[in-house]
Amino acid sequence: MAKPLETLDIPIQGMDCADCTLHVQRAIAALPGVEAVDVFLGSEKAIVRLDPAQVDLPAIRTAVEHAGYSVGETASQPPAAGAESNISRPLLTLLGIVFGAVLFIVVVGEWLGLFEAITARIPWPLSLAIVLALGYPVFRKVFLAALRGQVISHTLMTVGAAAAMLAGEWATALVVVFFMRVGDYVERFTTERARRLLKDLTSLAPQTARVERDGQELEVPIAEVAPGDIVVVRPGEKIPVDGEVVAGHAVVDQATITGESMPVEAGPGAQVFAATLAGQGSLKVRTEQVGQDTTFGRLVKLVEEAEGNKAEVQRIADRFSAYYLPVVAVLAALTFLIRRDPMATVAVLVVACSCSFALATPIAMLASIGAAAKHGLLIKGGKYLEILDKADVLLIDKTGTLTLGKPQITSILSFGEANLLAGPSPARSRSDELTLLQLAASAERYSEHPLASAVRLAAVQRGLELYEPQGFQSYPGVGVHAGVNGYRVSVGNRRIVEGLAVQPNTLIQADTLEAQGKTLMYVLVDDQLAGILAAEDTLREEVPHAIQSLQEMGFRRVELLTGDNARTAAALAGQIGVEYRAGLLPEDKIAIVKEYQSQGHKVVMVGDGVNDAPALAQADVGIAMGAAGSDVAVEAAHIALLRDDWSLVPEVVRIARRTLRVVKGNIYFTAFYNLAGLTLAAFGYLPPILAAAVQSLPDLGILANSSRLLKHR
Ligand code: ADP
Ligand code: MG
Repeated sequence: MAKPLETLDIPIQGMDCADCTLHVQRAIAALPGVEAVDVFLGSEKAIVRLDPAQVDLPAIRTAVEHAGYSVGETASQPPAAGAESNISRPLLTLLGIVFGAVLFIVVVGEWLGLFEAITARIPWPLSLAIVLALGYPVFRKVFLAALRGQVISHTLMTVGAAAAMLAGEWATALVVVFFMRVGDYVERFTTERARRLLKDLTSLAPQTARVERDGQELEVPIAEVAPGDIVVVRPGEKIPVDGEVVAGHAVVDQATITGESMPVEAGPGAQVFAATLAGQGSLKVRTEQVGQDTTFGRLVKLVEEAEGNKAEVQRIADRFSAYYLPVVAVLAALTFLIRRDPMATVAVLVVACSCSFALATPIAMLASIGAAAKHGLLIKGGKYLEILDKADVLLIDKTGTLTLGKPQITSILSFGEANLLAGPSPARSRSDELTLLQLAASAERYSEHPLASAVRLAAVQRGLELYEPQGFQSYPGVGVHAGVNGYRVSVGNRRIVEGLAVQPNTLIQADTLEAQGKTLMYVLVDDQLAGILAAEDTLREEVPHAIQSLQEMGFRRVELLTGDNARTAAALAGQIGVEYRAGLLPEDKIAIVKEYQSQGHKVVMVGDGVNDAPALAQADVGIAMGAAGSDVAVEAAHIALLRDDWSLVPEVVRIARRTLRVVKGNIYFTAFYNLAGLTLAAFGYLPPILAAAVQSLPDLGILANSSRLLKHR
């Protein structure tokens, strides 16, 4: 019998460029028993799926160390802040100035022929010493990598620098080395910056909590808080856990999770989330989730792992950079053999810079995903931004998605059966309507459907007590069934009355209500139609505008998919100007998604995770509304909107378009730049010293271009 696979989350240290992730990935993947590896540059970790019978952590540690990196402490807690970067903004500015100045000197100096004059005067041992001293960190890396049989992006340039030194071109060697160091800094800065986004996010959650134990308040590290603990939150403090308020009132600012700046009132019974801020008032919260299990913790984890869902452009770029180094080496060899020009050969080796290819996509994606996360938009990977940029079909779930999901019961029709009235004593003195509502609400007691809440609310508002339902069963897209107080009660849509004898008059009443856009729930008691509850849900006010923007953005087909009846669907679809399909079961929704996909469309589906999670997962991009606190929605969807706000849907499409523009810009720019550089160098139009000076420009360009994405809105 095969042992179950295990997943390990392993911190990796020492990765500071995109090449590094590839090295680590290969090293781990080569171990027997490893099924899959994902290495993340941003969150500095590897996620390994492995067969514990064949391979373990020490073996992975050895492999990683052999590849030149190290394994950090495996703790369940997120890495503490403090591993702060020593590369700051002012330093980068300074670097930019020095870079510009050196570039200027090099160009002018080369033009005036200054370098030959200068190098001629410096004794060569001194030049050698300067080059070696300046280039030491890079040479060391290249040398160590070479010992392990690896070629890294600096290998070519090192060979170039060595060739320049052999040719007596000391100034060239010096410039090459100088810019290798600059390139290194730029790359580390970029990586650090992406990492800081993640760290900023993690540091929003409190690290300690004030817990009530034996009547005492005790401040303990968050790791020691367990579900069930009562946590005390004072005014102005962050809530450390997910849980239910048991006492107190506060105004809670949930912007860290939802991006929504309007605070909400929280009192007993309210659900509150870790990392949100309690203002004006204190709370006692019964802990439900702690640390990584909280909504916020999962959010951070998903953003960290978003790097793994690579965009197709990035896979292409990755593949390309694997071929790039050998191609350049061959080109250099050809230049040497055919043109017999050692200086041109050095220039070819020096001008090639593969790291910017590897950087072009991930930096832009990370910047966008990080910035979006701060606005309550959780994007699970660059892949989804890429698909969103091209998608043309938009499918929308109705209940809870287009509508507020807070339906109100507007009418109760009871067909007062005699057996109902003759029910047990608590019901006897009441009217038929109340009895009907009480039975329906009791059957709906444990349903999470928005309609169920409406029924319960209507019952509570009328002062009705709910019975404990027996053998509760839920039929997604249809309704519920339970035993209530000795009766068999079903509540659901027209499907449940199929095959039952129904008075023609009842059907006419039902049709009239549906034509008004109401959603009907039929209530069966002991297999007889006992009544109908009509609910009305309001369209979210920002929907029409959002749908219109999406249509203008190129979604040619927009369709409303609902399990509700056709008349209600038509009324709603008419208001927002889209097509609709009604009477659908959850599996019908999946089938419709697949149908579009088989016609070659890229399908975006927006839903709320109730009854539509499988369709969200099947869509090319599934977007979940109001996902804060809903595990199913966050799991199933590819993009989760943590705030109930439809304007975020066109917004995320805009983010996707902008990101892809930047990514493509980065890639075209680097490709063109390198091609031009290589051609000029091979034909001897680019002296090595200039080649060295211009090769790190693309990195700077990509960094500058991508950081535009950090600033959106
Ligand atoms: P939508 O597709 O509009 O989001 P659902 O698939 O969640 O709607 O439900 C479709 C229909 O099934 C509802 O309009 C309602 O008539 C019925 N239904 C589903 N769940 C319940 C429930 N718990 N109680 C009553 N009716 C329900
Ligand atoms: Mg729904």
